[in-house]
Amino acid sequence: MSARKGLLIAAYALLLAAAISALALFGVQTVRLHALWQQSEDTAKQFEQEISALAAENDALAREREKAQALAEDQAQRIEQLQDQCARLQAELDSAARYTLDVRQLPAGQIVAGEEIDQAHLQDYFTSSPILEGDEVYVRIYGKSFVDNDDIALADLRYMKVLHYNFDHQVQVGELIVHRELAPDYQEIFQALFENEYEIQSMYLIDNYWTGDGASSDSASIEVNNTSAFCYRKVVGGSGLSNHALGRAIDINPQQNPYVTYKDGKPRWTHDNADDYIDRDTGLPHVITHDDLCYRLFKAHGFDWGGDWRTMKDYQHFDKEK
Ligand SMILES: [Zn+2]
Repeated sequence: MSARKGLLIAAYALLLAAAISALALFGVQTVRLHALWQQSEDTAKQFEQEISALAAENDALAREREKAQALAEDQAQRIEQLQDQCARLQAELDSAARYTLDVRQLPAGQIVAGEEIDQAHLQDYFTSSPILEGDEVYVRIYGKSFVDNDDIALADLRYMKVLHYNFDHQVQVGELIVHRELAPDYQEIFQALFENEYEIQSMYLIDNYWTGDGASSDSASIEVNNTSAFCYRKVVGGSGLSNHALGRAIDINPQQNPYVTYKDGKPRWTHDNADDYIDRDTGLPHVITHDDLCYRLFKAHGFDWGGDWRTMKDYQHFDKEK
């Protein structure tokens, strides 16, 4: 073998070896690529799964958040309601603390400051209570305006405390005794008079002016222009029982609203303090006419007015019979 041939063989062998190793390398790379592709596909699948799990979780969280928001709104509303309730209670407490005035405990004639009066509960200042044998009122009236009799029982009378404006336009405590059936009428009437600032000079029991009998005590009460209701007595100038004796009549501001009789068409009256009030058209204050609030209120409650009587006039007098 020549040297040239030997070289050629060696060259071929080298070429062959190179080709074989290149092929082997290619095979290895292909396998590796395939493995990598497989791996990335797996990873992509895993990512997809993770994404959908996260999305589901996200949806659940969104629902939870919505629920929590609705709950928070409900709670806020409830808190607002409770705060309102709290404020109302506080206001009631404040007003209870501010308005401690108990008209039942105040003596008639007591002047009351306007700011002491709880305008939201005015009806509390127009009270009616039974009179019990031996109690303070009973002791004041027994043997005077009230005596043992067959016409009116103590249990049928009520002692009332009210507020009214006096002639100086101050708020004053008044007292009166009326038939229990009429107490609700009187409560409404006197509250309406008060709300309209209607002036009444004073309201004391007739017993404060007691001079020994019903007629003269009535006269003494008129003399000081006192407003009063119950008195177990006869009618003025007659023998029958007065409606005052049954707690079914009241005389209001008697000076400005006198009892007038007529002889030969001429008016006669018994109290000089009424001289200016025989003429009913003077427009003077406290004169009761058909336009007067007092007249309108008593009329609306079914009372009759003495100013409407025919043969005589008792302008101070309102009554409501059974
Ligand atoms: Zn009368």
